[in-house]
Amino acid sequence: MKIGFIGVGYMGRHMARNILNGGHDLTIFDISKDAAEELLSLGATWATSPGQAAEASDVVFTSLPRPQDVEEVVAGEGGILSGARSGTAYFDLSTTDPATIERIANQAEAKGVRILDAPVSGGTAGADNATLCVMVGGDRDAYDEFKAVLDLIGDKVMYCGDLGAGAVCKIVNNLIGLSTGVLLSEAFTLGIKAGVDAETLFTAVAGSSGATQAMQGFPNGIFKRNFDPGFQLDLAAKDVGLATQLGRELRVPMEMSNIAQQRYITAQNEGWGRLSAGAVARIQEERSGVEIAPPD
Ligand code: NAD
Repeated sequence: MKIGFIGVGYMGRHMARNILNGGHDLTIFDISKDAAEELLSLGATWATSPGQAAEASDVVFTSLPRPQDVEEVVAGEGGILSGARSGTAYFDLSTTDPATIERIANQAEAKGVRILDAPVSGGTAGADNATLCVMVGGDRDAYDEFKAVLDLIGDKVMYCGDLGAGAVCKIVNNLIGLSTGVLLSEAFTLGIKAGVDAETLFTAVAGSSGATQAMQGFPNGIFKRNFDPGFQLDLAAKDVGLATQLGRELRVPMEMSNIAQQRYITAQNEGWGRLSAGAVARIQEERSGVEIAPPD
């Protein structure tokens, strides 16, 4: 199959490689050609615009940072819609919001391009190992037609419902995981200040009712003072913001989520947006005077 892939960053490069390894013809585009080097060496074809990638493809994927990037890549000058033919399917693997995907679908309708939201969860390791959860909303026939391609990037591919349903599932998931990250920083600084070391706390919680996936990154992350990104704090702030924005639109009270969002914004204001999302805990470390790390 001829497949286009736009946005080959921390996530996209792995997903695109797994699609390529599935035996498909892959055409790629990214604003940074450097990001595409490995894929080009593996046999992918370079396009000079998203539109050119779409022109060469039966189905197009994007993995881009923010909703506004997705909108630009789809509907902007030289965008996907400028090159896609009637019947082309487009899956957005980025984390965006239902309103963005709806606007894009309205613009795509006249061209007969089928639009689906398909955000993913599982981090860069999941993208590398093709063990992502892929949450798809939109045209059921297009989902069925391209399910075999989606299975190349994840082992938990699910149809969530109408257009936007995938985005909603992803927003709900990330709100839980990222807010838990803030709560974990408070819980661990409390435990350490009360005299128990970080590793003992980790082992106790991991075997108890507080066990959470958000904590699994601690041993290789904050315990080692390693804040190299796989998932950038800027993107985490965006995701919690998508949740609180949706809450405002739908009049859902979300006091705790707004506090969590504020913590991510504070971390961005510290200049930590390009660090890993786990760096949000440093706000709490500074405020409490406690470092979440095993003693030297
Ligand atoms: P990233 O910033 O590493 O990658 C995005 C890529 O898109 C970059 O290579 C960038 O150069 C490219 N890009 C940006 N604007 C572009 C444009 N206008 N045209 C073409 N290319 C453009 O981000 P990422 O971590 O790979 O995340 C991508 C999406 O997946 C985001 O929406 C993120 O929230 C979501 N996500 C990330 C993770 C993770 O662990 N990193 C996990 C799940 C979901």
